[in-house]
Amino acid sequence: MTEYSVHNCPNCGAKLPQECRNGFYTCEYCGKSIRVEDIPPEDATNTDPSKVTLTLEYDADHYLIIPDMHLIIAGKTFTIKNHKPLSIVLDKGKYDLTFKSSIRKKKITLDIDGDASLQIGWNRVTGAIKVELAQNESVAYL
Ligand SMILES: [Zn+2]
Repeated sequence: MTEYSVHNCPNCGAKLPQECRNGFYTCEYCGKSIRVEDIPPEDATNTDPSKVTLTLEYDADHYLIIPDMHLIIAGKTFTIKNHKPLSIVLDKGKYDLTFKSSIRKKKITLDIDGDASLQIGWNRVTGAIKVELAQNESVAYL
């Protein structure tokens, strides 16, 4: 019986076999060879009840050149790519978030008591960074 790894094939999405030869996995379904280094890291999964997952989604479709969005939170800087949701696991609590992109900057403070999602985009009129909470009661926008 084949044992499967926790990874999925980036080509077809099937579970990859546990066995890895010379640094390559071979997908049983589509036959693709996948380098171990090419397997994307697992999403941050939160199993600790004292922690919360903050998911950030960036949408800048109406821009010709899409600048990366940077987030500074708890002394760490994260880069958020367009349409690539980023999950950060944090302790529950109050956080200052600074969003930065090109010459623009936006600061918000959140009191996070449960998993939360933020939608980040641009105000088309003013060109300012726009941050919105996606359906959340466990977060207070301070
Ligand atoms: Zn495959």
